[in-house]
Amino acid sequence: MSEGELATPFRERAGRAMRDTFLQEALGIATTKFIGLRREAFADFPEGDALRDRARAIKEAMLQRLDEHLERLAASVERLGGRVHYATTPEEARAIVLDIARRAGARTAVKSKSMASEEILLNEALEAAGVTPVETDLGEYIIQLAHERPSHIIAPAIHKTKGQVAELFARELKRRVAADPEALTQVARAELREKFLKADLGITGANFAVAETGTVVLVTNEGNGRMVTSLPRVHVAIMGVEKVVPSMTDLMIFLAILARSATGQKLSVYTTLVQGPRRAGELEGPDEFHLVLLDNGRIGELAGPLREALYCLRCGACLNVCPVYRQIGGHAYGHTYPGPIGILLTAMLSGPAAVRDLAHASSLCGACVDACPVRIDIPRMLLGLRRELDERRLAPWGERIAFGLLARLLARPRLYRLAARVGRLLQRPFARDGAVRGLPLALGNWTQRRDLPVIAPRTFQERWAALRREDRR
Ligand code: SF4
Repeated sequence: MSEGELATPFRERAGRAMRDTFLQEALGIATTKFIGLRREAFADFPEGDALRDRARAIKEAMLQRLDEHLERLAASVERLGGRVHYATTPEEARAIVLDIARRAGARTAVKSKSMASEEILLNEALEAAGVTPVETDLGEYIIQLAHERPSHIIAPAIHKTKGQVAELFARELKRRVAADPEALTQVARAELREKFLKADLGITGANFAVAETGTVVLVTNEGNGRMVTSLPRVHVAIMGVEKVVPSMTDLMIFLAILARSATGQKLSVYTTLVQGPRRAGELEGPDEFHLVLLDNGRIGELAGPLREALYCLRCGACLNVCPVYRQIGGHAYGHTYPGPIGILLTAMLSGPAAVRDLAHASSLCGACVDACPVRIDIPRMLLGLRRELDERRLAPWGERIAFGLLARLLARPRLYRLAARVGRLLQRPFARDGAVRGLPLALGNWTQRRDLPVIAPRTFQERWAALRREDRR
C-alpha cells in the first residue's frame, strides 16, 4: 500500500473494499474454504484441543525465558557454522541483509514467503541497492507482479480471482493463459526456474527456530522454500525473536496444529529443516547461512499489555473467521499484518496511535479466539487498546465525546432513566419495524448499515417496579 493510500482514512479504504465485487467474490470463496478445511481437520483430530493448550503453555514458558532461548539458539546456529545477527529496528535489519548481499556480490535474490521481510520493507531496500528481489511463492509472485502488498498472512493474493491473475500474467509476462490455477502455476514455475538458478542470495522467513539444535523451520506448500534455501550460495533467514522454540519435541506440537489451523492439512506439503550452511560431504546447501533475529518492538512488549500477541504462529485462521476481515480484506487495514491479530501486531510494532481507527475494526465476537491454535485472547487486548487510546486522548474526538457522555449517563441512574424516557420520545419519527432507521446528521453513519433496536417501551427497572407493585396488591 502506497503512502498516499495510507493517508486515506480507514473508513474510506474499507468502503472501497466493500464495493469491490471482485474482492468480495475472491474473499468469500477463499475464507469460506479455509474455515471448512480447518473445521474438518480438527473434527478428525481428538487430541487437537489438548495440543492447543500445550502449545499455548510452551509459548508462555518460552517468553518468560526468551533471552536464554535466544542465546542458546545463537550458540547452536554458530556451532553449525552459521552466523547470527540481532536487529533492533527495521533499518538495522535491512542494513544487515544489504551488507550480506554486498559481500556476496548479489545481483538477484530469490525469496520465499516472509512476513518479517514485508515488515522491514526489504524488497524496496534491495531494489534501491541494485539487487533484484524475486518472490517465488506463487501468491507473493502474483502480488509482486501487480506491485501490491500481501492481503493475508498465508495467502498473500487471496484478494485476486483466477481471472484477474490470468489478466495480470497476460499484461506483465506477455503470456495468454486460461484462468485455471494449474495452468497459471505452470507459467509461474517456468518463469521462476531460471531465477532460482541465477540467484546469488536466498532470503526466507522462519516459522520456528529450535534453540536446542539451531534448526530453522519453514512450513510451505510449494517447494520453493526448499529451493531458496539450497540453490543460492548464501541463505539469509529473517525472523521475529518470538519464533524461537526450546526443543524439537516442542516443535512437533506446533507443527501438529499449525497446518491444521492454516489450511486444514495434517502437515504442510513441505516442512523444511535448515541446519546451517552446507557441510563437508553434503551435496547441496549454501556456502553461508545467516539468521537475522528481529526485535522491532517485540521485546519491549514482553511486559506490555499486548504480550499475548507474541504467541502468534501466523496461521491466518483468525483472519478467515473475522467478520470484518471477511468484508474488507487485508489491504484496507493499511499495514503489513491485517486482520484482528494484525491490529495488535501493528500497535506493537508502530505504537497505539497507528491503530486509532483500526482498534474498532472488530465486532469482538470472539470467533478469532475459538479459531486460534494458541487461543490468543484478541478481543481482550483490543478492548485494552481502545481504553488506552481513549486515556491517551488518541481516539477520534467525536468518539471520545460520545463515549464520555455515555459513561456519565450510565454512572447516574436518575439521568439514565430520564434519558431512556426522552430517547423513547425522540426515536418515534425514526422507528420502523422494531429498529431505528435513517437518523439525521452524523448519527446517520450508525443507522446506514446497522440495525439499531428501538428503546424498549419500558426499561428493566420500570418493569421490575411494576412487578413489585403487583406483588404487593
Ligand atoms: S492470532 Fe492465532 S489464529 Fe491469528 S494468525 Fe496468530 S496464531 Fe493464527
